[in-house]
Amino acid sequence: MRILITGGAGFIGSNFIHLALRQNADWQITNLDFLTYAGNPANLEDVSLLPNYSFVKGDIASAEDVKRVFRDSFDCVINFAAETHVDRSLYDPHLFVRTNVAGTQVLLEHALQSGIRLFIQVSTDEVYGSIESGKWAGEDFPLRPSSPYAASKAAADLLCRSYHITHNLPVIITRCCNNFGPYQFPEKLVPFFITRALDNQALPLYGDGLNVRDWLYVEDHCQALLEIIAQGQAGEIYNIGSRRELTNLEMTETILHLLDRPKSLIKFVKD
Ligand code: NAD
Repeated sequence: MRILITGGAGFIGSNFIHLALRQNADWQITNLDFLTYAGNPANLEDVSLLPNYSFVKGDIASAEDVKRVFRDSFDCVINFAAETHVDRSLYDPHLFVRTNVAGTQVLLEHALQSGIRLFIQVSTDEVYGSIESGKWAGEDFPLRPSSPYAASKAAADLLCRSYHITHNLPVIITRCCNNFGPYQFPEKLVPFFITRALDNQALPLYGDGLNVRDWLYVEDHCQALLEIIAQGQAGEIYNIGSRRELTNLEMTETILHLLDRPKSLIKFVKD
């Protein structure tokens, strides 16, 4: 199988490449990544010299860059590339629309022209917005994104759906909960709090810390994506979660406990 991965130098994409190549030595993987601040080639140092892995630096929102990559043919495209930090989306929403919405559209268009067999859009459960406590969003829940990041991902999902319905492009959308694990950029809650706790610095927790999140180990997300490549149905949306909800406060206390640091490091700050 020949797979085009976008955003493979980031957190989940790099974990996916490691797992996919470990399990499928005959797959050919091309990684198209713009290497923004969130993309780190060191995440893939150990696979970079493999004959069945290649890296292309390029922007998914640039038709020229994407056209160049599609000179090769692929069976499957997995779109991980995105601007992903909710707080940054408050300050520079345009960048989020450019990469997450326009970039996805450029990829869909070239995937359509090249006749690929499967296009997987790696989306997020944040497109559903806040869910009443104790409830789980089904795939048919209304999209009620609360941040420019989530809104841009929801818009991309709708574009994917439209390419499936209008052009019969074999698209699958996946919506996963919060991931944790290796190679995550340390602006996100878990690595940010780990690095600060190791330095005995305060951990700034938004509000009362009682916001609830479902957390999944990143490799389990990647394994789910591999299952979806093998068995998923075009046109479907698949939610991926762990059903292990934690408040942000519980997650923070767990990190402090594992690092043997005092709870007094927690500082509640305005959301
Ligand atoms: P990340 O921020 O760690 O990595 C994003 C990658 O995309 C980086 O390597 C970056 O260089 C690349 N990129 C950014 N703009 C690009 C562009 N214009 N062209 C090409 N490459 C570009 O993100 P992540 O946490 O690995 O998330 C990957 C995907 O999974 C995203 O689409 C995100 O919405 C989704 N997701 C993430 C989580 C999570 O908890 N991290 C949960 C659910 C879904």
